[in-house]
Amino acid sequence: ACRDKPLSGYLVYEDGLVQGSKARLEIETGIREALENNEFDLSFQPVVCAKTGALTAAEALLRCENSRLKSVRMDHIINTAEQSSLIAEVDMWVIRTALAHMQKWCAAGLQLPKVSINISAKQLSNVTFMDQVYDLMQALPFAPSRVQLEVTETARMADVEIAAPQLKRLQNLGVHIALDDFGTGQASLTYLQRLHPDVIKIDRSFITGVNTNHANATMVSAMTVMAHCLGLKVVVEGVEDEEQLTFLRETRCDEIQGYYISKPLPAKVFTEWLGVFVSKNGAVEHVTAFED
Ligand code: C2E
Ligand code: MG
Ligand code: MG
Ligand code: MG
Repeated sequence: ACRDKPLSGYLVYEDGLVQGSKARLEIETGIREALENNEFDLSFQPVVCAKTGALTAAEALLRCENSRLKSVRMDHIINTAEQSSLIAEVDMWVIRTALAHMQKWCAAGLQLPKVSINISAKQLSNVTFMDQVYDLMQALPFAPSRVQLEVTETARMADVEIAAPQLKRLQNLGVHIALDDFGTGQASLTYLQRLHPDVIKIDRSFITGVNTNHANATMVSAMTVMAHCLGLKVVVEGVEDEEQLTFLRETRCDEIQGYYISKPLPAKVFTEWLGVFVSKNGAVEHVTAFED
């Protein structure tokens, strides 16, 4: 718009800027209120072995009841939190809460193999934050190998020089590190090379239309082969139908996650589901009966 109409274009731009910062303030206020009023919650989405359907993990996903944030997408909320210092508080709340759930499940004999927790890449260079994470992982009442941290490459990605040793010392405790949304960042291979993760989570955009989109299919299998040669596990997220699952089995993807298996379930529903799963002691088929 600016290029077509230089004069009014400036006004349009400024107006958009004002609106943008208003929206941002509204979201920041919503996040602050949610933290204060206990309006955040976690949902958990099962991750299963592609071959057997056995439950391998659950990913904790943030949910929010705050009225200002009702119609805002979670990645946008996280993005806004990342632009302020709020992300540290949000991520720490998520970590503590996810670990508390894990502890409760362990105590109840509900054996979830692993809980996977998203942390903002920005936090990798926040040494105070990473020290706190380290202390928490050192004091767990269960093996740290039952915790995975998922890091997404973002524009606010920490300097790898700082991030790498932070992740390394967590890995030395046994904590797993996953590169989330793999393949969509601008430097996926650089991060793979420098951060030595245990897992890559291939972004769901690559699995969309994988049976008709030859390029997507090729990229998924190439990423899988590469990861396996590097000794890494491959998780594909966003699996929505049986054809995608069949394709992923053929390409030897290790684990899958997506609506085809289950939507993210509110903690309470996930706990009930885990109880049923443990008592059956079988593989996960569809659990879409329990929806978000
Ligand atoms: P992500 O970590 O890649 O999480 C996967 C997202 O894909 C989730 O969206 C999940 O609900 C959605 N999803 C799962 N299976 C399917 C499927 O089969 N089809 C489709 N279309 N979508 C599927 P959600 O919960 O809206 O989260 C969006 C992003 O926000 C996350 O992407 C993550 O980057 C961020 N996020 C969510 N919770 C947290 C958190 O606790 N901390 C941080 N730092 N980021 C979080
Ligand atoms: Mg994730
Ligand atoms: Mg992802
Ligand atoms: Mg994402």
